[in-house]
Amino acid sequence: MQRRSHIFPTYAPPAIQFERGEGVRLWDTERREYLDFISGISVNTLGHAHPDLIKSLENQAQKLWHLSNMFDVPGQSELADRYCELSFADRIFFANSGAEAVECALKAARRYHFEKGEPDRIEIIGFDGAFHGRTYATINAAGNPNYLKGFGPALPGYTKLPFGDMNAFQNALSDKTAAVIIEPVQGEGGLRPVPLADLTLMRKLCTEAGALLIYDEVQCGAGRTGKLFAHEWAQDATPDLMATAKGVGGGFPLGMTFSTEEVAQYMVPGTHGTTYGGNALAVAVGHAVLDHISKPNFLRHVETVSEQIRDGFEAIKSEVSDSIVDVRGKGLLIGAKLAVSNIAVRDATRDLGLLIGVAGDNVVRLAPALNVSSVDVEEAINRLRKALISVKSQESEKELV
Ligand SMILES: *Cc1c(COP(=O)(O)O)cnc(C)c1O
Repeated sequence: MQRRSHIFPTYAPPAIQFERGEGVRLWDTERREYLDFISGISVNTLGHAHPDLIKSLENQAQKLWHLSNMFDVPGQSELADRYCELSFADRIFFANSGAEAVECALKAARRYHFEKGEPDRIEIIGFDGAFHGRTYATINAAGNPNYLKGFGPALPGYTKLPFGDMNAFQNALSDKTAAVIIEPVQGEGGLRPVPLADLTLMRKLCTEAGALLIYDEVQCGAGRTGKLFAHEWAQDATPDLMATAKGVGGGFPLGMTFSTEEVAQYMVPGTHGTTYGGNALAVAVGHAVLDHISKPNFLRHVETVSEQIRDGFEAIKSEVSDSIVDVRGKGLLIGAKLAVSNIAVRDATRDLGLLIGVAGDNVVRLAPALNVSSVDVEEAINRLRKALISVKSQESEKELV
């Protein structure tokens, strides 16, 4: 039987089988070692097999795994307290994934206006290049035609605007706008940070228009940009709702929707729910991740190694002409728009023992564990440099033929 023949053909992984991980390293079944600079796309915040996460998970596994949210899940309330203490939020909804966390934010936004006597305020404004997950609501919120195609009519109540056009944004807000949803740093769309002044202005305009502001920090949150949450870089730009997942679970499925009391107060019994969301194992790991990512020194390290990667990219850019268009992203959600094929470079780095990702706009994406060392960053940059040189020379040869 062919491998994977009984798995949905939604993914097309390369023919490597990883067996074991430790920190930023992975080993395949042939004992080949790789530097993992994509971390399950911004998920393994502390790298693979971190001893504190293992300890927390094993401790909890001995006691209790799952209750369902019809009971008070051990550790949940404490994790919510801790995140609310560290953020704008007053309330947290626990989920399993990013899409589910976004879904809850969208529902809470519409419900809020409904309860406030404005049931027609249903419009959700999103942006070009956004990614919010793969459920019906989240593909409609992001509005990427590739992800909507073939799945029936687009849902009503979603509007998409060009990225970075504040005039269009101002004109789009109306008394029908329920919420605006935006990633403070676009991941999938090509590592595009929203200018900080735009976030501040959006907050102000949303408040004036009576619309809610939702941040999708599924990818850029959890310390990835050097702040616990990416929007903290901007002044006076706190949202009403925020979706998180990926990094907050460090590799265990955990998503969280953050909300103000004003909005969350209406999400009463019967309005929303989930079976697995924030179960005892997920929450135990969530606590252990937060122990690390809430430390100022830990977050400073993210900035330091981010600078190192940025400098590395800039050095390659000046050395290998026409290889890199620009360096993108923030913190350890960083990469470059290439002048050569991003897929070819990703595959070439893999052959050299370095795992990286790609993103829209011909971008290569690096999202290593946040505790990655400078030494490992240096090695990764070396391999990336080699890969770029080899892809560049192959592409030049092809042009000559
Ligand atoms: C990955 C991602 C999601 C979806 O998360 P899942 O856990 O895959 O459902 C949503 N928003 C952003 C910004 C993401 O990067």
